[in-house]
Parts: sequence; C-alpha cells; structure tokens
Amino acid sequence: MIMKPCVPPPSIIKYQALIRRLADNELVKYDVVTDYNNRMTGFLGEESVMNFHLEPISDLKFQIYHDLRFFHKNYFFQIDILILCAYFALVLEVKNWARDWHFDKVLHQTMTDNNGKLERTKNPIFQARLQAFKLREWLKQHNITGIPIQYLFVNSNEKSNIIIQDDNKYKWNVCNSEYLLEKVDQMSNDYKLELLDEKELRKINKLLLTSHTPEKINLLQKFHLSSNQILTGVHCPDCNYLPMNYYAGTWKCQKCRIQSKTAFKNTLDDYFHIISPTITNAEARRFLQLNSSKMAHHYLNSSSLNSTGTFKNKTYHK
Ligand SMILES: [Zn+2]
Repeated sequence: MIMKPCVPPPSIIKYQALIRRLADNELVKYDVVTDYNNRMTGFLGEESVMNFHLEPISDLKFQIYHDLRFFHKNYFFQIDILILCAYFALVLEVKNWARDWHFDKVLHQTMTDNNGKLERTKNPIFQARLQAFKLREWLKQHNITGIPIQYLFVNSNEKSNIIIQDDNKYKWNVCNSEYLLEKVDQMSNDYKLELLDEKELRKINKLLLTSHTPEKINLLQKFHLSSNQILTGVHCPDCNYLPMNYYAGTWKCQKCRIQSKTAFKNTLDDYFHIISPTITNAEARRFLQLNSSKMAHHYLNSSSLNSTGTFKNKTYHK
C-alpha cells in the first residue's frame, strides 16, 4: 500500500510562486531557477521510482512512504522513500543526476562525471546508510526495535551509468531504478522471520505519518530578497503572465486571453507561499492590485480563509 503518496513538496510550490513573481532583470533569479530545477529533477526521479518502479508491489505486503522527515537529536533527517513490511525496512536514497557514478572500493570515495571531468561527490550510499541509522535510532526512541533496516542508493536517471567494482563491499547497496524490484525480492528471500504483526505495523504507520514534519523554507530569507522585489498583481492560472486586467469581477489575461473570476485565489496563495502566512486587508489590496479596501474585503472573504482580530487589525490565513 502507498501510505504516503508522491506529491510535489511545499518547497517546490513555493519556488514556482517565486519564479513567476521575480522580474527577469533580478540577478538572483538565475540562482532561484537553478535551485528549483535541481529540486524538480530530484522530485521527478523520486516520482518515477514511486509511481512506476514500485507500482507493481504497491498492493502487496509493503507499506510505502514518499518523503519522510523527522526530528531527532536536535536535527531533522529526511528519507526519500521508505519500504516497510512485517519482515524488514528498506531506506532508499534516490538521485536523478545526468552524470555517471563512480564508486571507489578503497577509500569509498564517489566521483560523478561532469562532461568528462570527474568531480568528488557525497557518497549517496553513505547518505542512505546514515538515514537508515537515524531511522533505527529514532524508532528505538519510540520503543520499536529489532527490525532489520537495509539501505539502498537508487539511480533513477536512465541515461546515467553506475561504475562499481565487483569486490566493492557496498555493491549490494546500489542499483538502477529498473533493478529495484529485484532488490526487494532479494530482501524478501533473505528476511523470512515475521517481526511485526498487523497491529504493530498500523502503530508504526501512524507514528511515521504523524511525526513527519515538512521542510519550512523561507525563500525571501534564503535568497536575501525583500518583499518589495516581489511582483504584485493577479497572475494568469494558465500561462503565469501577470498582472491580469481586472474589469467588473473578472480577470483577463492579455497574453493568452483566458478569463477568470477566481484567479485571485492563486495569487493569495502566492502571497502566503512567498511573503507571509498571514495577510491584512491593506496587503491584499496592494498584492491583488485592487482599487478599494471594500473589494479586498470581498475577495478575502470569498477565499475560505480563517481570520483573527477585528476591523483594522484583522488578519487572514489558511
Ligand atoms: Zn495567460
């Protein structure tokens, strides 16, 4: 069963909002777009593993989780994909890089091939091993012990090669995504002792889902931007063009010509994603480029938002 499906993480949605609201002449836009593309490539790799390569076993005995993030000993650790069953757990570290991977067997250094030049890279097998170690410790803290936890680096990029010698002691812990089901089969053959009953699996499932804490990323801080650099106006839900023209309750896109009565809702979401989790009437008026506080009031009240405070101190939030 897919217990936690693959959906774009909140950070990706925030990057998309920021990119459409940064003018092209902002120098930092290049860094924002580069960072976004890297995150998106990573996400698409995880998505292909979840929705394609793991799909055949999703209705069997396995509980499958995408993107888990837990607090442990003052820090967060994050797992790309976790496969859990009554017999074992398997932690996957997925990379979707368009580079070949070279694993050295002596020092266990990892190099990736950047257009013919080998560059030292963090060893993803050790990253997976570290996440498995932290998961074991974290589960122990919740009185769950005795489950074997294996780990695997999965290359999800079909154009990249893995170069590893036959006598590398970590060679079991690496595979291409198309070989992943074979690895899960091997584990099923190796671990035949049932360690968790249905009740315990349900308990762990609840613990994993309720303890997961999504990454909270403040992009203004991260890229040293001020809110004045963020473009205002309602953006087109189809082509992202902004600002749309407003006339008598309808927004119209000059570029693709679509019309919308509800486009303001996505724009308010952009405000929450980029600037602040709360908005006042005056801020909404400015961000939606409306002529009056009465109109801002109307649109804020038709957005199914929660509010606190009264009159001038009233703030709205999701
Ligand atoms: Zn448009």
